[in-house]
Amino acid sequence: MIGLIAVTAAGRAGAARLAAAWPGRTLTFDGPARQALPQAWAQCEELVCFLAVGATVRILAPLLTSKWADPAVVCVDESALHVVALVGGHAAGANELAARVAEVLGANPVITTATDAVGLPGLDALGWPAEGALGAVSRALLDGVPVRLEADATWPLPPLPVSREAASDYRIVVTDRLIPLGGRTVVVRPPSLVAGVGASRGVSAEEVLELLTQALVVAGLAVACVTALATVDAKAAEPGIVEAARQGGWPLVTYPASQLAAVEVPNPSSAALAAVGTASVAEAAALLAGDELIVPKRTSAKATVALARVRPRGRLALIGLGPGARDLLTPRAVAELRRASVVVGLDQYVGQIRDLLRPGTRVLASGLGAEQERAQAAVAEAREGHAVALVGSGDAGVYAMASPALGLAGEDIDVVGVPGVTASLAAAALLGAPLGHDHAVISLSDLHTPWAVIEGRVRAAAEGDFAVVFYNPRSSERGWQLPAALEILARHRPPGTPVGVVGDASRPGQRVVLTTLAALDPETVDMRSVVIVGSTSTRLVAGRMVTPRGYRWQ
Ligand code: SAH
Repeated sequence: MIGLIAVTAAGRAGAARLAAAWPGRTLTFDGPARQALPQAWAQCEELVCFLAVGATVRILAPLLTSKWADPAVVCVDESALHVVALVGGHAAGANELAARVAEVLGANPVITTATDAVGLPGLDALGWPAEGALGAVSRALLDGVPVRLEADATWPLPPLPVSREAASDYRIVVTDRLIPLGGRTVVVRPPSLVAGVGASRGVSAEEVLELLTQALVVAGLAVACVTALATVDAKAAEPGIVEAARQGGWPLVTYPASQLAAVEVPNPSSAALAAVGTASVAEAAALLAGDELIVPKRTSAKATVALARVRPRGRLALIGLGPGARDLLTPRAVAELRRASVVVGLDQYVGQIRDLLRPGTRVLASGLGAEQERAQAAVAEAREGHAVALVGSGDAGVYAMASPALGLAGEDIDVVGVPGVTASLAAAALLGAPLGHDHAVISLSDLHTPWAVIEGRVRAAAEGDFAVVFYNPRSSERGWQLPAALEILARHRPPGTPVGVVGDASRPGQRVVLTTLAALDPETVDMRSVVIVGSTSTRLVAGRMVTPRGYRWQ
């Protein structure tokens, strides 16, 4: 039985929901927790306590005997936001109970046992099928027993606590080949195969799938690695092919006959040429969707199938870390950082997020000025097939590493961009709403841009009456550029125009100065700040910088 222990109104409401969800399987214990909890402990194999963790621990401590004998205990907080697996995570099933309770209550399960931290979460995160001795290999990883990684190719895997060299019976094998499993092997199935399919009208889905299965079995390949079916445009709506794709959960990719006809194949057919205008459908489509033909076409009465292998594609994530504060780093950025096996970035930015990286992540950090090297390193690692994260402060695409990296990256890698909160947005939020209407963002660094170009842009922003955000406004070597830029703006807007200077936004030592165009002291500005100059409509309202949106009610 599942004992439900509730002592508050909110707890009783939560307990009632569980009782309704699991009729006949729960017992509700009311009254003071000091009595209800030991009663439930004696009678039930599983306990759900609508109680603080501290209170539960104090009451249960004298009752604990061993993880093999004690019931599973989970605690639910007063707002039913979290379900904490407290006692008996594995042996008694508290982790699993927490997940079930969380599902009914719409809460978060909180699991603290070690498997979750170092098991195979990275592999699950890939969404690739894994089979074999998952339990035994997870336990080996937990116990610090060496686990060997064997991979047919370099796939963009997350960092795993494994080694290619380790001499061990425990293995994680990344392959599309069918291999004997044994009790100490996990096989991860990468998306490495595509099936080219041709068919005459009226073919059944069963026939297509049967032929595909035969082709896989004969070649010793796993169906779990098939990622797509490919055929000619003319067969895009052929019911047997469409249904086979649906049943396999594969996308159906189609190509024009002319494109297929241009592919060189080992087994052209004049019948196909007469029927659909290309001498090969299955082999040519497999080759277009994949890279290397590994099973030439096989035929049944109405179908043909050929298999091609897809070369692994590395993955480059361009990740903006935000202006500095941890809570301005997006959850997506965190997930991508943990997904990467190689992290590339400026040492100070990498330092900012090092604690988030999974053990085993390779870090390539370098100092200021090595932008080109960082971009090259990130792209080269991705090209080798790795999962790479290239990090930058703010947004990685704003005066940062994304453009040099993408300038070098070819079609052979996958690229994912994770937007970040820019310095300009962080500064604006501290100042009020200075960017409420049209604005321009201009870097005053003339290291890579001629001053004449920068000056021209400042003049255009001045003439267009844009609010202006200056990045890289001033450094020890570049002192005159900011006054020169402000002077251009001052020709088009009054001396009293509000100006905000924000240094180290959201970082320790954050500085916010609100002043005017005439009164700005350049000494308050450095390379760790941005300067936001209002437009002619920007006002100070209650000490905040506001650029009206232009609605009539304003
Ligand atoms: N990619 C970053 C910009 C990098 S360029 C972004 O999206 O914000 C570096 C310049 O950004 C610095 O010279 C400074 O002008 C500005 N900057 C970066 N972080 C800042 C912060 N926390 N506070 C104020 N300015 C910052």
